[in-house]
Amino acid sequence: MRKTIQQLEQSARLLDPSLQQRKDWNQAIHQYADNFLNDIETAKGYVTSETQGSGITDLPFSETSKNLPELLKLLDKEVDSQGINAASGAHLGYIPGGGVFPTAMGDYIAAVTNKYVGMFFASPGGVRIENQLIRWMCGLVGYPENSLGNLTSGGSIANLIAIVTARDAKEITSKKVEKAVIYLTEQVHHCVQKAIRIAGLNEAVIRYIPMDEQYKMDADYLEVQVRVDKKNGLIPFLVVGSAGTTDVGAVDPLERIGTIANEHNLWFHVDAAYGGFFLLTENIKNTDGTNLKDLFAGVELSDSLAIDPHKGLFLAYGLGAVLIKDVKSQMNAHFYRANYMQDATDFNPADEPNPADLSPELTKHYRGLRMWLPLHLFGIAPFRACLEEKILLTRYFYEEVQKIGFEVGNYPELSVAIYRFIPKDGNANVFNERLVQHLQKDGRIFVSSTNLKGIYWIRIAILSFRTHLNHIDLYLEILREAILELED
Ligand SMILES: *Cc1c(COP(=O)(O)O)cnc(C)c1O
Repeated sequence: MRKTIQQLEQSARLLDPSLQQRKDWNQAIHQYADNFLNDIETAKGYVTSETQGSGITDLPFSETSKNLPELLKLLDKEVDSQGINAASGAHLGYIPGGGVFPTAMGDYIAAVTNKYVGMFFASPGGVRIENQLIRWMCGLVGYPENSLGNLTSGGSIANLIAIVTARDAKEITSKKVEKAVIYLTEQVHHCVQKAIRIAGLNEAVIRYIPMDEQYKMDADYLEVQVRVDKKNGLIPFLVVGSAGTTDVGAVDPLERIGTIANEHNLWFHVDAAYGGFFLLTENIKNTDGTNLKDLFAGVELSDSLAIDPHKGLFLAYGLGAVLIKDVKSQMNAHFYRANYMQDATDFNPADEPNPADLSPELTKHYRGLRMWLPLHLFGIAPFRACLEEKILLTRYFYEEVQKIGFEVGNYPELSVAIYRFIPKDGNANVFNERLVQHLQKDGRIFVSSTNLKGIYWIRIAILSFRTHLNHIDLYLEILREAILELED
């Protein structure tokens, strides 16, 4: 047996490369990353391709090793030079993010050290990193010091954790679901509806509250509806507000919603996945002279909030957060004990809740480091400047696009604007759809579209940290050319 073990060991040790091997690999990886980043300023936002990544499928897994330079060549061709370039400042579609470089450094260390940060016992320092980041975000939205939450893979899971917590906190057991009422608007992100279904609340009464002409929830209507529902023996328990909708970047009247929620004992959840980090801005005024941040007034009245550092803090994809004011309710909804975990769960001398007790996840990525490192390395000031720049770029675009003949939607509250071209003749929806196809084929700038009340709108969402004035000017130029071409 020892002999066989030793033979296996020889092969198994290949999984632990030597220093020299690691150096060679690191060098190749660095070279790859540098090549990618050297071109990023002028890289296209979208590249249509003939292979559609099929070279990946064509390479089977095999018993023996392959060489790194060849694999990198394949990645470059089949992955990194096709589709949306989400690292590029030319990405102005959906909600971009970017991926500040120290995210990669954090991920690298996290993967090498492989710390387990679900339990304080396993990594006291790692858990402190996660909880400190969460508390910093709680401070940003004005939650009290004893609030907490969880770092998640993104906004979708953050919203899910909040909704499950709300369900349990308000004791909506399966027997009560049919009488339970949830209030939201049609502009809520679809992941909220997905979370409602996953949470077993699909048979609850779902009330879509009408919106005003700025796509904000009509709070007066909400109040009347809650009263009517209560009178009719239903159980109103949850209202979801948006702080920055995906379609137009609208912020719901959070203060009013919070007051109504408070009065009627509803759980108030805010989806700030896109908009939340604009709370960092200081020097931007709204058209009425108030501060941009005042749009979020009342956010502190909420019980829970989803916020995405991989959007508004420009980290690479893979980091969202849920913040929950009453951490006990989050614990009640997610805590579980198992005998095989007894050493870990019983050990917590500091007041540092275990992330695993607040989430459906047990083993998970050490994801705090990818946010902790950039925040410390850069400091907060450049993030603030970058967010303020994005707001002003959006306003600049909004003014300029009108000068080249486009019709626009509402004045942008945050960094999303909608616009469309009314052609001399023909159907405007068809024309703008063709325009977007034309833009995507061109690819220098990537934008996406939406549909509001049957009208096809082109969107611009400016949130990549790499988007600057030159991208916006280029895009305006591309639009000008495209209109000439398509109107012909
Ligand atoms: C992006 C987004 C989400 C979903 O977050 P993911 O990180 O993509 O899972 C939810 N709500 C809003 C408003 C968003 O912009």
